[in-house]
Amino acid sequence: MNNSISKNIKKIKITIQKTAEKYKKDKKKIRLLAVSKQKSIIEIEKAINSNQFDFAENYAQEAIKKIKILNKKKYKIIWHFIGKIQSNKTKIIAQNFSWCHSICNSRIAIKLNNYRTKELLPLNSLIQINIKKNNEIDDKEIYNISDIIKSLPNLKLRGIMAIPNKINKKKEKEIKETYKKIEKIYNKLKEKYSSIDTLSLGMSNDIRIAIKNGSNMLRIGKSIFGNRK
Ligand SMILES: *Cc1c(COP(=O)(O)O)cnc(C)c1O
Repeated sequence: MNNSISKNIKKIKITIQKTAEKYKKDKKKIRLLAVSKQKSIIEIEKAINSNQFDFAENYAQEAIKKIKILNKKKYKIIWHFIGKIQSNKTKIIAQNFSWCHSICNSRIAIKLNNYRTKELLPLNSLIQINIKKNNEIDDKEIYNISDIIKSLPNLKLRGIMAIPNKINKKKEKEIKETYKKIEKIYNKLKEKYSSIDTLSLGMSNDIRIAIKNGSNMLRIGKSIFGNRK
């Protein structure tokens, strides 16, 4: 078990490499995030020992404890916030993370901007796409939020994040269409804003289809650290 985290990371990197080759994507541009929610400092350090430096967390309160401990050890970790944002956690997020993937309204964007201190670089910001139960996406809403983020000096608009519904046999076709829609919206935004370069898409169960549809930031938990409680 001891070195399984490093083995898992190697395995995922091979999957990324092979999938990128298959779909003619540049593998060097695909960034792997280790989702460390519910995982211990020791487990995170095992991943660091395999040269993994991008970590993602879902809960501000849980994350801040780990960030404080690991900051003391002077690792060069890049922290990503990927969870649902509660308004009273915007300060913690704005002041302790390099990236925020889950901005889904302008009110939250404005709060993050206000709490991001000037001595930090602008917070790398992704708009979370809201995918409805019927796999519909309201793209107008995304363009509105993107205009607002663009106007905020302490946020840097980098792209979009999405969590597609689980693929089941019955809805397989519909969900594959959703991935294509996400890629289309991403490409449209990219044309509009030169700062956009990141599509955060793909978790342990959908790495391949995410890469196929242009993802360049994968958020992987279970396949690196094993199952959660
Ligand atoms: C938990 C989580 C992940 C990682 O999911 P795995 O299935 O463990 O790879 C990725 N993105 C978000 C937003 C998550 O909440």
